[in-house]
Amino acid sequence: MKHVGSCDRCKRSFEYELIHNGFNDSAYAYCDTCGCTAMISGWRPAPEGTTLRVHQQISKDIEELLEPCRCGGHFTANASPRCPYCKSPLSAVEAATWIEANAPGASKGWRWQRDWAGLYCIIVQENRSSDPWRMDLARSNTEFVTLFRPVGPDELGLIQAIDFCGFPPRLPEQPLFYPVLTEAYASKIARDWNVPASGSGYVTRFTVRRAFLSRYEIHNAGGENFREYWIPAEDIDEFNRNIVGKIELIKKFPADDDIASRT
Ligand SMILES: [Zn+2]
Ligand SMILES: [Zn+2]
Repeated sequence: MKHVGSCDRCKRSFEYELIHNGFNDSAYAYCDTCGCTAMISGWRPAPEGTTLRVHQQISKDIEELLEPCRCGGHFTANASPRCPYCKSPLSAVEAATWIEANAPGASKGWRWQRDWAGLYCIIVQENRSSDPWRMDLARSNTEFVTLFRPVGPDELGLIQAIDFCGFPPRLPEQPLFYPVLTEAYASKIARDWNVPASGSGYVTRFTVRRAFLSRYEIHNAGGENFREYWIPAEDIDEFNRNIVGKIELIKKFPADDDIASRT
């Protein structure tokens, strides 16, 4: 959900999202130069030996495990989000004015945390980075594979019913289960197929053990960006057992809001 905030230095307005880090068990950090928000999911594999404390800003020991920001700056344990125009750090105390004004819960007593370290973080003008673990340390490149699956509201309900730990059994007329390799492909199916078929479409993201997937071929449904696995319906239980962590809900169509944002 996008809201409008303002810079206390240059007075210009910008859009932002307020993210509740309990929803996806994530941690976060801001770039010390541009204020980009790094969202770091606790459900995805962190580098070996790393303890990521979620529901808060990253701790100091995590800094050196993260890639630099696209702008060349660094995600640090004590940086603030920044105004997208004058780049000055935003005051967490001043931000209470617009964050509370935009939060429906504020009328029921909810209060902004007034720091950039607690349960909530903000993403300014969609300037975000997802799981920027350093590539040379990332276990996701070797032991694990990130996959995506577009689902309609019925399947989403069944996934929710088992607390995002797996996918429901296939129906008799569904001999195959199709997880896909890219978010773009999953988004296209959710938007172009699930929305017309059932009114809404969702993109889920999850991590699977590579050793398990290696027994299946990758199928190409029309180009490098349209790759998918065909998992026989009878293998779905074993597939679910090889999902590491939980299934994340990352997109919703038609409203392309980040579902993780809650106020
Ligand atoms: Zn400004
Ligand atoms: Zn940056």
